[in-house]
Amino acid sequence: MNDTGSFAQYVVIGNPIAHSKSPEIQTRFAADTAQDLRYGRLLAPLNGFAAAVQQFIAQGGKGANVTVPFKLQAYALASSLTARAKAAGAVNTLKFDGADILGDNTDGIGLVTDIARNAGYDLAGKKILLLGAGGAARGAMLPLLQSAPLQLVIANRTPAKADELIQKFQPCAQGCALTACAFADLQQPFDLVINATSASLQADVPPIAPQVFGAATLAYDMMYGRQPTPFMQFAAAQGAQVRDGLGMLVEQAAESFFVWRGVRPRTDAVFAALRAQLS
Ligand code: NDP
Repeated sequence: MNDTGSFAQYVVIGNPIAHSKSPEIQTRFAADTAQDLRYGRLLAPLNGFAAAVQQFIAQGGKGANVTVPFKLQAYALASSLTARAKAAGAVNTLKFDGADILGDNTDGIGLVTDIARNAGYDLAGKKILLLGAGGAARGAMLPLLQSAPLQLVIANRTPAKADELIQKFQPCAQGCALTACAFADLQQPFDLVINATSASLQADVPPIAPQVFGAATLAYDMMYGRQPTPFMQFAAAQGAQVRDGLGMLVEQAAESFFVWRGVRPRTDAVFAALRAQLS
């Protein structure tokens, strides 16, 4: 408990929100680290995100996760931003401290942690293909480039958006060859292919050639579910190793917990529990 005698309050804000796994994940983290907090769901009206946040702050709220469709509004609402939130142009984590609303983005580091630590995959020196140029792809750019890949190619259905990402992140590319291309131009194999499109939500696969996958390729879909996604099925049929985005979900949540509480929770047991629920 805090010095006012009440538990520190956190929420995940979205619309819809009933499906969110964040309360279960964060409550497990709190139990594991013996942190006194409460974490719930907050359904904000589609035209009432900022008001919902301000009301939560007035009630003593200490922080929030932000999900669809409010990540851009959270970015605009924040009074200060971390470097990775600025790079992503979107916020999935808010921390309330007096009058300050800190905006952060933990999605990209969640992805990289899942790949690098949980999957034991060293990104340094690798040829990476990033499919998609929406919010999730944008959030992944800085953490991916900070992992020192040899090459990063971005391909998107709307090529102009991939070009925009290249322009924006070129200054952070360091030794990495950073380029954009159309799906149809992809003919060579990659070490790592990350699906950051929402095609899997429509049971669809981006139209890429089978040659982008080889036996040594790791094919990572940010989406997760009970069954391997269509992208994972397509990649596996070409002999690739596959992984879904459940670990990314858990790792981005752990990073948010660290931002709020200064304590890093273990993630393996939470990941295993969520995986068991999906099977
Ligand atoms: P956005 O809506 O911001 O972007 C969607 C992207 O997918 C765009 O690049 C869009 O292309 C592309 N796209 C949509 N439909 C198709 C299609 N049928 N074929 C090819 N490309 C398509 O979504 P987000 O970036 O927020 O999310 C992307 C995915 O990442 C979602 O599946 C989401 O669930 C997942 N995600 C997972 C997280 C996790 O923790 N595991 C966290 C965040 C996201 P265009 O520009 O042409 O419209």
